[in-house]
Amino acid sequence: MRIIDHHIAGQAFAAGTRTSPVFDPNSGQVQAEVRLAGADLLEQAVAAARAAQPAWAATNPQRRARVMFRFKELVEARMDELAHVLSAEHGKVLADSRGDIQRGLEVIEFCCGIPHVLKGEYSHGAGPGIDIWAFRQPIGIGAGITPFNFPAMIPMWMAGVAIATGNAFILKPSERDPTLPHLLGDIFREAGLPTGIFGVVNGDKEMVDAIIAHPDIAAISFVGSSDVAEYIHAQGCARGKRVQAMGGAKNHAVVMPDADLDQVVRDLAGAAFGSAGERCMALPVVVPVGEATADALRAKLLPAIARLRIGTSTDPQADYGPVVTAAHKAKIESYIQMGVDEGAELVVDGRGFTLQGHEGGFFVGPTLFDHVTPAMQSYREEIFGPVLQIVRAADFEAALALPSQHQYGNGVAIFTRNGHAAREFAARVNVGMVGVNVPIPVPVAYHSFGGWKRSAFGDIGQHGMEGVQFWTKRKTVTGRWPDGGVGDAGSAFVIPTMG
Ligand code: NAD
Repeated sequence: MRIIDHHIAGQAFAAGTRTSPVFDPNSGQVQAEVRLAGADLLEQAVAAARAAQPAWAATNPQRRARVMFRFKELVEARMDELAHVLSAEHGKVLADSRGDIQRGLEVIEFCCGIPHVLKGEYSHGAGPGIDIWAFRQPIGIGAGITPFNFPAMIPMWMAGVAIATGNAFILKPSERDPTLPHLLGDIFREAGLPTGIFGVVNGDKEMVDAIIAHPDIAAISFVGSSDVAEYIHAQGCARGKRVQAMGGAKNHAVVMPDADLDQVVRDLAGAAFGSAGERCMALPVVVPVGEATADALRAKLLPAIARLRIGTSTDPQADYGPVVTAAHKAKIESYIQMGVDEGAELVVDGRGFTLQGHEGGFFVGPTLFDHVTPAMQSYREEIFGPVLQIVRAADFEAALALPSQHQYGNGVAIFTRNGHAAREFAARVNVGMVGVNVPIPVPVAYHSFGGWKRSAFGDIGQHGMEGVQFWTKRKTVTGRWPDGGVGDAGSAFVIPTMG
């Protein structure tokens, strides 16, 4: 059996007596075991980071950026191989794995410009002989704890910005698809990153608790489900750490009566069922405005769903592949049963789907519910599978209220030809990331990513300028060089002003 190790001080590192199975979601078989470790291993990663970080922070940002350029070239050169590794453990189709890697690389590209971003602020002559300059310094050692569903992109969101800004970064990836994060360690080393600046520690709650407790880890970036996000945010903050913790989602697509329904259906098919719905920016809820819109949309959705091709993650014709584990498949199917029990109309049932020749694989067919109501638990909670729920709204205000009042506030989209409706919606909806005729409004790398309400704890987003803010501390220097030296200004007993 293949064993997946940790990655410490630039090399594979075996530690931990427990292991966790890594499945091949296409076959349902265990394909590897990942070692799980705790505080002892973390200490080794932190020691390596502590030894390397001061020199890395003192390395000029242009040289740090060169490592990012090299890293990007190396990942691009290995794109196909890495996409296969990712798909083999996650189950998403190869084209989607390439997208996962590419979105991570776009953050690395942003980090190639880090010298420009770190230039700081300067006010000449803020007072008599007084200049003020503000600049950002690394926080020291940071940790990232990541989910299974983007094993390339999310580690790169965090590691790219943390490392480019002069920190050491320790990654605790999901134990369900740990091989790709491990390979990132090899690639960073090959790119010339000093050993100790990037480490990978595998584990479960025990490792996460060790990260929270470690006094030398100054910041934790988390992406995963909301209960865990809330826990890590509360525990980390209680220990004085800086914490950003992104959680779950239940994103709505509001469809106005004037929308181009054919385009909406094409967008929904991809956003609801792509990656088997295992995306925090998926669109699992559609809110048609008015009964006529709802009926027309449903009629157009049915043939689109019937055309979806479910296949193995290496099938180039497949629209989506299996979900990540048998346990996750069972959870999705239990939510489908819950919807039935709650009285929603099950229009297309994806349970019991099997792929010929891959009967043990974790496949779930596309599922469509209609007449879902806000009171239903299957609506209020995240399903994270290929399940689309239609919630009918009488008018614009009712449609606006649904995502606004939902416990999650990650993403939302409105489909309309009416600029005023789109503008009103974007301004008033109580959600962090909004798409206007864009189904998956994930901000590009030089903007920042983050939802509202139970989709994000802590208010600094991932990547872009907020990422830089998260991984650095601002220092502001006020200097005075009056004519004739600094010693002739006398004492000031009142708060100094520049007036
Ligand atoms: P998860 O919360 O189960 O796991 C995320 C990480 O937390 C993993 O590294 C895991 O090992 C660790 N973990 C799990 N249980 C823990 C516990 N009890 N205590 C401490 N650590 C624990 O999430 P997942 O199933 O890997 O990923 C899917 C979830 O992530 C979905 O809810 C999805 O919406 C969310 N997600 C959110 C975003 C976002 O940006 N908001 C992006 C991607 C995924």
